[in-house]
Amino acid sequence: MVYIHVPFCHRKCTYCAFYSHGAPVPRRLTAYVDALLDEMERRKREQAHPIRTVYLGGGTPSILPLEELARIVEGLRRCFDLSQVEEATVEANPEDLTPEYLLGLKALGLFNRLSIGIQSLDDEMLRLIGRRHTATQALDALERAHEAGFHNISVDFIYGLPKEFQFSTFDFQLVTHLSAYALTVENGTALARQVEQGRVVLPGEDEVVRQYHECCRTFEAQGFGQYEISNFCRPGCHSRHNSRYWDRTPYLGLGPSAHSFDGQRRRWNSPMDLDNGGWEMENEEVLSEADAYNELLMTALRTTRGIPLAMVPDKYKKELHQKMQPYIECGWITVGDDHYRPTREGLLHADGMAAELFVA
Ligand code: SF4
Repeated sequence: MVYIHVPFCHRKCTYCAFYSHGAPVPRRLTAYVDALLDEMERRKREQAHPIRTVYLGGGTPSILPLEELARIVEGLRRCFDLSQVEEATVEANPEDLTPEYLLGLKALGLFNRLSIGIQSLDDEMLRLIGRRHTATQALDALERAHEAGFHNISVDFIYGLPKEFQFSTFDFQLVTHLSAYALTVENGTALARQVEQGRVVLPGEDEVVRQYHECCRTFEAQGFGQYEISNFCRPGCHSRHNSRYWDRTPYLGLGPSAHSFDGQRRRWNSPMDLDNGGWEMENEEVLSEADAYNELLMTALRTTRGIPLAMVPDKYKKELHQKMQPYIECGWITVGDDHYRPTREGLLHADGMAAELFVA
């Protein structure tokens, strides 16, 4: 599987702590794609098997003009065996999805899944978090994407905003997958400053949890099953790409700050410096057995599949069984089919449980 990081956005959203650069000029986008194609050539031998999933994430990949996206797709075809690709996703912001852009994306012949960052259907909330689109633009973009032939569409929403999400205008028939993320206030963001100065007042934890349960209920009533703390899908429409991260499948990450994993080593690229050759692979961490097990706990407890006992090294099993007992008794975990599975309530405590279960 291949992940490509596109580190540009039209402007920074107030809550965003992701790595991205704002307001790029076309020359910089071209220089970025040149550097990305160089990296593909340099690292193509790291991908020994045919690629099953491709994911263009960011940042905002849809900021790239179609000509630049075409160069990326050509580069992928040149460097890798794409004959077995099942899923190729591109993240997009609604305001970029004009009819011409959508048809051009489709014509590239690779992308079969769109992930659209809608976030909210309330214009006041969209302004509050610094998004550039309106609710109407988002709904129109979704319809246009469908008309352009994209039938595997995921949409991102944010809950935990001052005004609760209203889904009354949303046509669930147009999407196969939904992601709902809690708004978090990250240090150093504009939102953190606004909250500190009292200019934005966010709901307390109980209200955020209530909104989460409300999202879950609404999505399930519309035929979407939950398979991860933030992810819901129609039957068979889970994200192949993201599910493989959670299964610890090796992947190749291209682009500035992208991470790669070969089954034992996690490596990540430096941030972008287009004036000095782009970026380099400069960080590496070899995972010990304990590190790998802790990562399994952290990711598996966020999925409804839970922890498969077959993936737990024998030497950690006894301690895991003992430490799980209180969670089973309080209803956060169920046992069956050789898995420890978090309940819906348990999913909300996934990080805390994982931290308690970590081994040194
Ligand atoms: S579009 Fe996404 S990556 Fe870009 S600033 Fe907004 S939240 Fe961050």
